[in-house]
Amino acid sequence: MNRDGNAGNLRLVPGKGKSTARPEAPFDALAFVQSLTATLEFETVLQRLHEQLYALLQHSGWIFYTEGDEQSWSGGEDDRHRIEYGLSYNGASMGSLILMRGRRFSDAEQQQIEAVLGLAAPALHNAHRYRRLVSTLETDELTGLGNRRAFEIQGAKWLADCRRQDRPLSVLAIDLDHFKRINDDYGHSVGDELLRRVADTLRTATRQSDLLVRMGGEEFLAVLPGADLACAMECAERIRLAIGSTRATATADDASALQSEGMVRVTASIGVASVGRNTTLQALYQKADEALYAAKQSGRNRVLAGH
Ligand code: GH3
Ligand code: MG
Ligand code: MG
Repeated sequence: MNRDGNAGNLRLVPGKGKSTARPEAPFDALAFVQSLTATLEFETVLQRLHEQLYALLQHSGWIFYTEGDEQSWSGGEDDRHRIEYGLSYNGASMGSLILMRGRRFSDAEQQQIEAVLGLAAPALHNAHRYRRLVSTLETDELTGLGNRRAFEIQGAKWLADCRRQDRPLSVLAIDLDHFKRINDDYGHSVGDELLRRVADTLRTATRQSDLLVRMGGEEFLAVLPGADLACAMECAERIRLAIGSTRATATADDASALQSEGMVRVTASIGVASVGRNTTLQALYQKADEALYAAKQSGRNRVLAGH
């Protein structure tokens, strides 16, 4: 899963040279279906479907949209002729596939495409359901951010990737200040609304490629791949200011003591840690959390780096 539960656009390059299905090879339907059902990884199923279609059509580009979660994957380049197929399984619409090419798709080719898509539909359906299930398990219900599980799974993967590529990675531990008072003064539902607003603020203040997590309560984490300590400190300061400007509305029913204009505000303390040699994800989190604790101790509403 990616941020916002959105995969973003996965660029799958047409299988020129890489395709396991050779253009001159006859279409082996059984082998094709077996290759699709051998995995539940949605991107892999899509890649194999694409390779097969490329072997038949040598098209220039393609786009696959899924319905319901409005995600898209694409590969290759746009071209003059486009052909679109709605995909459904057991009567339920799954999404659409667009293929693009410089020359028209002949009637015979269209029949081939339909046959291939018909064979691929069950595997695509299963892999897509699996993908959504995994995404649900890694999503915080209140805010739509990732949850602790997302941090442990994605974070470990990203940490390993950054190590391999010798890139920095930083973690921000963000805790809202005196949040208990918000609940006490305005009620739990206003507290919940403010947590959702803070989540939106975090989305706006960070990059699409960063991972945002609600660890529980009023504690959040941001994992910033590619960010060294200086960059992460800047980002943390931007987040601190943005959270300070975040508001939720309390009505007279909610509040026993309204702040200005019925707007409820909050500040945040943030601890920052960057990856060093042999740092584990847990150690990184702990370091950010210690810095957060120090930020709380030294007065709240501030950013401190871990040492
Ligand atoms: P500090 O500045 O030291 O972090 O103070 P705090 O009040 O934010 O910290 P504390 O850990 O004492 O309290 C956290 C509060 O967050 C307790 C609870 O009322 C509130 N909280 C935790 N989870 C939720 C939630 O899901 N919704 C709401 N509305 N409040 C929550
Ligand atoms: Mg707090
Ligand atoms: Mg807390």
